[in-house]
Amino acid sequence: MGETGSGQRLRLGLVDGDGIGPEVVGSARRVVDEALSAAGCRAAEWVALPMGRRAIDEFGTALPESTLDGMAETDGWILGPHDNAAYPPQHRSAPGGAVRRHFGLHANIRPVQAIPGIRSVAPDIDLVIVRENSEGFYADRNMAVGSGEFCPTPDIALSVGLVTRAACERIAHEAFRLAATRRRQVTIVHKANVLPLTMGLFRDACYQVAREYPDIRVDDEHVDATAAHLVRAPGDFDVLVTENLFGDILSDLAAQLGGSLGTAASLNCSATRAMAQAVHGAAPDLAGRNRANPVALHRSAAMLLRWLAGRRADPGLAQAADRIDRAVAATFAAGIATADLGGLASTSEFTEQVTARVHKW
Ligand code: ATP
Repeated sequence: MGETGSGQRLRLGLVDGDGIGPEVVGSARRVVDEALSAAGCRAAEWVALPMGRRAIDEFGTALPESTLDGMAETDGWILGPHDNAAYPPQHRSAPGGAVRRHFGLHANIRPVQAIPGIRSVAPDIDLVIVRENSEGFYADRNMAVGSGEFCPTPDIALSVGLVTRAACERIAHEAFRLAATRRRQVTIVHKANVLPLTMGLFRDACYQVAREYPDIRVDDEHVDATAAHLVRAPGDFDVLVTENLFGDILSDLAAQLGGSLGTAASLNCSATRAMAQAVHGAAPDLAGRNRANPVALHRSAAMLLRWLAGRRADPGLAQAADRIDRAVAATFAAGIATADLGGLASTSEFTEQVTARVHKW
């Protein structure tokens, strides 16, 4: 295997985040570096991008303009988790959400696949949740000015949900294109029985798009029925497409069925930009203890490399991504795991085990 494609340089951003962020982000960087080297790719140039608690202390804002500018100049970036609930009140809005909005990262792709060798409630789970990322009921996502939540009086709170046909069609295309590379089945998840206008529009727009993919099977479910169905028969699902909030909740449920939150990967993307971000949060209870499971971010970084491989037609990057996934699987198969999965390995020990295996294939 030669250099990365035409030997193009690869600039990757690195956002440490809060809580366990610096530990898992550092681990992911190490694994990516080794995988690129093992695949014969040019080494990545890493760009540190301050964001979160440390940025508040240093720049007076959780998301400095210089970080957004820096992201724009990278080929993609790894985003550590943020604990914005713990920031001073004036800084509490989620910086990760602001980044998704700024770059129009409309699709959040969240695969869940049980890994042989680790305990799992649902060993046959193998699905992808395709979550609409730009609107829905998120207070920070759905207004041009102001918040999507407001209080006319201190005792009354209102919430605005935003659903547009264009965003529904865009996310539906992501889901159907993805299903075409998998088991060719899409389930539209909504709640049109109680939100007939917003969720009805989501469901109907997805069905409209389905007509363009006649060889993909399609059905739909209410989100509460899907939660039960996921626990009863997770193997029934291939690709689920849903709105923002439902996707967030269902993906934590599915992640836990497949193993642990610590193994659940995700990619946030548009047609031109991508950001690797684990499904889990900053887990402050584990911060600084060398106990966090770094696998979610390893697999998210692999998704980013695979996305870049597709954009650049670069098989070297795809091979690096495969090496990461196989090294993680081989490490679990050897009985090595962090405490959340009942294992004894620390974050750094687990990282070294994966790093060593990246070269073995
Ligand atoms: P957010 O809303 O920001 O996603 P959250 O409230 O859902 O955050 P997390 O920070 O994801 O919560 O963590 C919930 C719990 O799951 C943590 O307290 C921790 O015990 C466990 N956990 C999360 N991520 C990991 C990880 N990478 N390794 C081990 N345990 C984890």
